Amino acid sequence: MNYISNPKSTEELQDIDFKHHFHPFTATSDLKDPGARIITRAEGVYLNDSEGKRYLDAMAGLWCVNIGYGRKELAEAAYRQMKELPYYNTFFQTSHPPVIELAETLAKLLPGNMKKIFFSSSGSEANDTNIRLVRHYWQSLGKPNKTTIISRKNSYHGSSVGSASLGGMQAMHAQGCLPIPDICHINQPYWYGEGNYYSSEDFGLARARELEEKIHEIGEEKVAAFIAEPIQGAGGVIIPPKTYWPEIKRICKKYEILLIVDEVICAFGRTGKWFGCDTYDIAPDIMTIAKGLSSGYQPIGGSAISEKVSNVFDDLGGEFSHGYTYSGHPVAAAVALENLRILKEEKIIENVEKNSSSYIKSKWEELAEHSMVGEARIQGMMGAIELSPDKNNKTPFRAPPGTAGLKTREICFENGLIMRHVYDRMIISPPLIINESEIDELVSLAWKCLDLSMKQLKQEGLWS
Ligand SMILES: *Cc1c(COP(=O)(O)O)cnc(C)c1O
Repeated sequence: MNYISNPKSTEELQDIDFKHHFHPFTATSDLKDPGARIITRAEGVYLNDSEGKRYLDAMAGLWCVNIGYGRKELAEAAYRQMKELPYYNTFFQTSHPPVIELAETLAKLLPGNMKKIFFSSSGSEANDTNIRLVRHYWQSLGKPNKTTIISRKNSYHGSSVGSASLGGMQAMHAQGCLPIPDICHINQPYWYGEGNYYSSEDFGLARARELEEKIHEIGEEKVAAFIAEPIQGAGGVIIPPKTYWPEIKRICKKYEILLIVDEVICAFGRTGKWFGCDTYDIAPDIMTIAKGLSSGYQPIGGSAISEKVSNVFDDLGGEFSHGYTYSGHPVAAAVALENLRILKEEKIIENVEKNSSSYIKSKWEELAEHSMVGEARIQGMMGAIELSPDKNNKTPFRAPPGTAGLKTREICFENGLIMRHVYDRMIISPPLIINESEIDELVSLAWKCLDLSMKQLKQEGLWS
């Protein structure tokens, strides 16, 4: 194997990593023992670690490597751009060709009436931009009291102070005095977990109407925006009931509040169409994009702004006192353009829509027959299975929530499959280019790992 920058042994790397690298979302104790998994190479849907072990990456990294690993065209686009103009900013009345071309390409590609893009290097930054942007918008219209943003429990919008406040993750709020003021959360449309006594349709309506109740409670004159993911990703691939989005759209229209759709995961094919907004027929005022925009090959994100919103700023003519050093970074923009070209020319998303999404759906839903699975759901290329020792009654395991999920994830890693767990749910979001034999492999590995996990949970007395 040809290591590029890895002459050290796995043990040495793990040791240094533990000593000097502070990791996101990782227990420090796990880095000490057993140590980090050192990933060294990737191709297509497969990863290799420093021991030469191969994994099927059913998460596409962190939901982002939509075109798969190893596309040299993106490396070449970065190389060309770095030689010509490695960096220049977009502040103070300057611009450059790659960012101009990317903004135009996106404005044409995005659904609804998206007109302008404010660039960032990540989804978190883009959502922070959105907080300032919607407040600035209402101020500009002479309504400075419209500052409150309504979001949802168990949503994920990023890790910065602002975006984690928008998010509804309790563990994140607990570390660092979040949320910041004027952000509040309503319940999520999680039917399997919270919709016990309702049909999914009634539950979807009831959860959407919490938005209306919240608007009444706060006062319409104080509400700036509502933010939501089309399908919650990090919360556990929560696919809303059919009735949910139409009702949300009705409410946002009736009251004067902006709709921010966080498409960081859903955009660029993940839900089986180009955008989650296409899947759910939503025309947002602002859309957050990142991850699949460059298939993760470069850090880039953005806030897409509809005509209605951007016209207000155009008419005003003033400045938005906001920006990142790397807003519209030329190398990231060039790579994103190349990624979009490949997605379009190779009809990767059309293939998901017409072929692979129905194939993976039929295979994935077979997992519902496993004794450890209470539900298997999937939309496009994002899916989840709910683990339960008693599928009919959705009984929990005899262990704290998340124990069975974590054990199952570890078994998956050992067996060459990367599936993530969210409490006792296993989730997938594979590269969009995954083919039928790779889907077969994914599902049969998942089945095998569920068998092994069930056996282990029984042995440990955690089954029920
Ligand atoms: C990952 C994610 C973010 C944050 O993006 P980063 O690039 O990690 O900052 C925001 N929203 C959603 C829906 C995400 O999945």
